Amino acid sequence: MPVYEYCCADCHSKTELLRPMSEADAPVECNFCHSLRTSRKLSVFSAFSKTGNNSAQAIAGSGSCSSCAGGHCASCGSR
Ligand SMILES: [Zn+2]
Repeated sequence: MPVYEYCCADCHSKTELLRPMSEADAPVECNFCHSLRTSRKLSVFSAFSKTGNNSAQAIAGSGSCSSCAGGHCASCGSR
């Protein structure tokens, strides 16, 4: 089962949840303030399976490049 990350719109905390893919978009209550205004982020699981070994490590380590979607432009520092 993949791990999904949800970001709370009210307190900006991260809530991680292990759940089946079919329920990935179901509402999640924030662990901290119990708000239901949470939005799903890309799961670590799918990021790893999509990008392969080297770039997956770079993404997991920083994930800070905001100028590209694929995680491998010149400013990512993944090479
Ligand atoms: Zn919250």
